[in-house]
Amino acid sequence: MADVLPDWLNPEPWLSDDSVVDGDSIRSAIYSLSPGPRELAVLLSKEAGGHIEEMAQRAQAITLRHFGRTISLYVPLYVSNYCSGGCIYCGFASDREQIRLKLSDVELKAEVKALKKQGFNDVLLLTGERTEEAGFEYLKECVKTASGYIHNVSVEAFSMSVDEYKELHEAGCTAITLYQETYNPELYKELHRWGQKQDYAYRLDVPSRAMEAGMRSLGLGVLLGLDDPIREAVCLFLHAQYLLKKHWRSGVMISFPRICAQMGEYKPAYPVDDEFLARMIFAFRICLPDVPLVLSTRESARLRDGFAGVGINRMSVASKTTVGGYGSDGQESGKQFEVTDTRDVNTFCAMLRSKDLEPVFKNWDSVFNA
Ligand code: SF4
Repeated sequence: MADVLPDWLNPEPWLSDDSVVDGDSIRSAIYSLSPGPRELAVLLSKEAGGHIEEMAQRAQAITLRHFGRTISLYVPLYVSNYCSGGCIYCGFASDREQIRLKLSDVELKAEVKALKKQGFNDVLLLTGERTEEAGFEYLKECVKTASGYIHNVSVEAFSMSVDEYKELHEAGCTAITLYQETYNPELYKELHRWGQKQDYAYRLDVPSRAMEAGMRSLGLGVLLGLDDPIREAVCLFLHAQYLLKKHWRSGVMISFPRICAQMGEYKPAYPVDDEFLARMIFAFRICLPDVPLVLSTRESARLRDGFAGVGINRMSVASKTTVGGYGSDGQESGKQFEVTDTRDVNTFCAMLRSKDLEPVFKNWDSVFNA
């Protein structure tokens, strides 16, 4: 399986560097003018835990310099929870007992209108792996409908071909989010028990295909908890670096999802604690200064308040992980995972303003999509 790894995805030189990690090397990584994977690995080491305050201050200063006092807000909208995939850690896997639903065009309109009413202009449409009920044509129609109301419509769904991404882009989709979940090919195969998602190499190539098709931005991430988080983080960095070099017209965004409680018995082998999460966010901000860093409502209100503007510059808010639930009257499905920060938009924006941060609901106009 290791032969599926391309040359650019080799974390070993950065992880097995024999140089000592001490106060000097950590400070030099914090203030490096051209940080790379080695600096990232140093900042993720447990020795860097003693410098967390300094890392936070540096991350805050960089965030302010590149993004001002703004936090851009988006909301996820599950259009369907049909899924042919078998991800062992997910409540929507095809072997889980679930009410399976998909939004009709009428329901989708009701949802986006309700979200628009709350002020949203940036919506992430989600669905599972391809099924007959919710395949490419269904998703494309959802994008068309949503982009009639919302300026920035992005998609988190199954892997597609370049031609499909082109069609989706023409329908109004500006960005794709697709996590590799884990960069460890053997573990990947074990966790993704069946379906197209089992193909590690095909998934790894998704961001390139989507960027080639003209997508403005690609959301990357690993599911924290599956494997050694330092190794995963270095691979994620290498992936971002490769894409930014190869597809310089597009941008990348990075998210930090930790495994949440869900249906099924899966227990993460490498649980990531709050302290490591903080180090990871600060390290990515220091090493990728102008890349948007995203934090979802998986995390608690306390943590999200602390990271807003301190590394993180993009956040979801008032999220639901059921199909429907914002505005349509139909039946709601079960949840993909539990949301932890359940605050409504007004409460969340009041928190941001109390920190002198400005919530931004619209930073893209659909007129640019042409
Ligand atoms: S993570 Fe996505 S593809 Fe995997 S089972 Fe869940 S919904 Fe399906």
